[in-house]
Parts: sequence; structure tokens; C-alpha cells
Amino acid sequence: MHELSIANSVVELCAERAMGARVLRVTLEIGRLSAVMPDAIRFCFDVCAKDTVVEGAALEIVETPGHARCLDCGGSVAMTDLLDRCKCGSVNLELLAGSELKIKQMEVV
Ligand SMILES: [Zn+2]
Repeated sequence: MHELSIANSVVELCAERAMGARVLRVTLEIGRLSAVMPDAIRFCFDVCAKDTVVEGAALEIVETPGHARCLDCGGSVAMTDLLDRCKCGSVNLELLAGSELKIKQMEVV
């Protein structure tokens, strides 16, 4: 399962950066086009955090919208999935945002 390994590396990274302190809150930024399910991350996060300094931490997930630039007309395209087209009909798009997955913020005691 994709989400399990992501949640695991998030927990590991946070535990490493916390340097022994307890982690209270973690904010994750997940792009809408990243094919990662926030609910699955939430579930896996709790499982992975068990018996680490991250156990019991609140997980906040911020979903960032997809955004692309059309390479044919130069227009700006809001993407809700990877099959979206530009208004001009082109599928020749350069994805600028929406596929990211990063730890935005972490709060420790
Ligand atoms: Zn276009």
C-alpha cells in the first residue's frame, strides 16, 4: 500500500527532527493530483506513529489544488484530475502544482 510507506517516512522524518521531543501536531501538504488518499494517510499515520515520539500527534492535511499551464495557448488551467484539458482543447499541459507531498509544519512540546 502506497500510503503506508508515505505515512511511515513522514513519521520517521518527524521523529528524527523532533530529536527526542514529543510531536504535537504535523501539517502535511498533499496535492490533489498526487493520487494519495488523505483518509488512508490519516489511518496509516496513527498506525506508524505508535510507540514513537509522534504517537498521539494531530495530523492536519492541507490539500493543494492542481494547476497547469497550457503549452499551446499559454493559458492557465485549474486541474481537478490529470485528464483535464485546457479551454482551447489542448492536453499539452505543463503541471505546475498539485502533485506535491510535503511536511509543511511540525509542532513539538
Ligand atoms: Zn490552451
